[in-house]
Amino acid sequence: MAASMISRHVAVIGAGAAGLVTARELRREGHRVVVFEREPRVGGTWVYTPGTERDPLGIDPSRPVVHSSLYKSLRTNLPREVMGFGDYPFLPRADGSGDPRRYPGHEEVLAYVEDFAREFGLEEMVRFEEEIMGVGMAEEGGKWKVTRMRNGGGGGGREEEVFDAVVVCNGHYTEPRIAEIPGIDQWPGKQMHSHNYRTPKPFQDLVVVLIGSAASAVDISRDIAQVAKEVHVASRSYEVETLGMQSGFDNLWLHPMIEKAHEDGKITFLDGRSVDADIILHCTGYKYHFPFLETNGIVTVDDNRVGPLYKHVFPPHLAPWLSFVGLPWKVVPFPQFEYQTKWIAGSLSGRVALPSEEEMMEDVKDFYSQLEASGVPKRYTHNLANSQFEYNDWLAAQSGSRPSEEWRKEMYSESSRKRHARPEAYRDEEADETLVSQAHEDFTKHPL
Ligand code: FAD
Repeated sequence: MAASMISRHVAVIGAGAAGLVTARELRREGHRVVVFEREPRVGGTWVYTPGTERDPLGIDPSRPVVHSSLYKSLRTNLPREVMGFGDYPFLPRADGSGDPRRYPGHEEVLAYVEDFAREFGLEEMVRFEEEIMGVGMAEEGGKWKVTRMRNGGGGGGREEEVFDAVVVCNGHYTEPRIAEIPGIDQWPGKQMHSHNYRTPKPFQDLVVVLIGSAASAVDISRDIAQVAKEVHVASRSYEVETLGMQSGFDNLWLHPMIEKAHEDGKITFLDGRSVDADIILHCTGYKYHFPFLETNGIVTVDDNRVGPLYKHVFPPHLAPWLSFVGLPWKVVPFPQFEYQTKWIAGSLSGRVALPSEEEMMEDVKDFYSQLEASGVPKRYTHNLANSQFEYNDWLAAQSGSRPSEEWRKEMYSESSRKRHARPEAYRDEEADETLVSQAHEDFTKHPL
């Protein structure tokens, strides 16, 4: 650490991929780091559990929460070369064990995240089974009072500790968003959210209406179609020419959005068609949720916009003492976590200068105005589908790291194209060998 760099005492909330890489970058920068993780192991989302919540829609605030939303058959929707951290590639194991496919199953990703933690000795910074219950401003000038509770066997009450800074890495695929359906209160069927979907078995011989069009809706509809009598997928965003029976299936249809649920069990769609359905499965995404944050309204979640945040990371009034890693969606998460967290680490040590609070606030306001002017709904604030690499490169320039690799950008676009065109087959199609060899060449150039 350079003499002018200041070491801070930093709390990181969560030991998923984001919390782990944050811990690594903060420590590299010379900070003293404690990671709080409510589960007994690292990996977050990638720790699959067959267990589900008692409320299948996940709306009861008093329910015991199951963190992961993975289903048993899940394979990644990104090729492994693209998905891995910049300086720790996600390679098949040299001894041939594990799942060497380019789009591996979820167990392989968990093993990779665990290897990452082991390689960099990150677990020693993690306090497992400690859940953060409160993050509020301490009386001591500018510091944070972090309240935690020990979970698991040991039990114990709440304890407080003071930190200079807090980095929030608690994930955002746990708190379900539910579609609003006219007439649903009188509809006699069952409902659940994909957060609680694990296997197709409970859907055997049923007529299922599934709402959504994102990656998990596409995968789950195909999973269920293997055993269900009929699967009817409803979404706002399908194009008219794709509606109707899906090729390769005799029991899977795409529809426009649901118009109404009826007392007699019928579901009607906006094109006037209807089905007698047994269950509605909401694959409608998730809400940002920070039940522990006590910022007196300085940071809020409004229609799934976490704000105000400068570049999706810092609340201008609390920068750099409070930050968020991993909020953007429709991105390649792991490398982006790395870019965000290098910027945070540098800002905390004083190596990287942030603009003034007023300048950051102006930037946020301009960004919100641009979204509004382009008709982008508030809930899409953190959707970086069209700007993720530009955003990463901006972050890289701030912290002095290398920008996104060209092969990664191209491979990402290619895999998105293939996924949309052939959702059943894209994972096992031949790779573009030129891009794969560029990736591998790059991996050898940037060893640990
Ligand atoms: P998480 O992995 O969710 O980790 C958050 C951690 O915070 C958890 O360990 C949790 O226990 C802990 N925590 C939460 N609250 C507290 C608290 N109060 N106190 C203490 N600890 C707390 N990404 C890809 O790159 N490729 C894919 O193919 C892909 N597929 C996906 C499929 C599904 C169904 C889902 C849901 C996500 C997928 N993702 C995929 C995105 C995935 O979420 C990211 O890859 C990444 O795992 C997110 O990491 P994270 O650390 O931000 O959050």
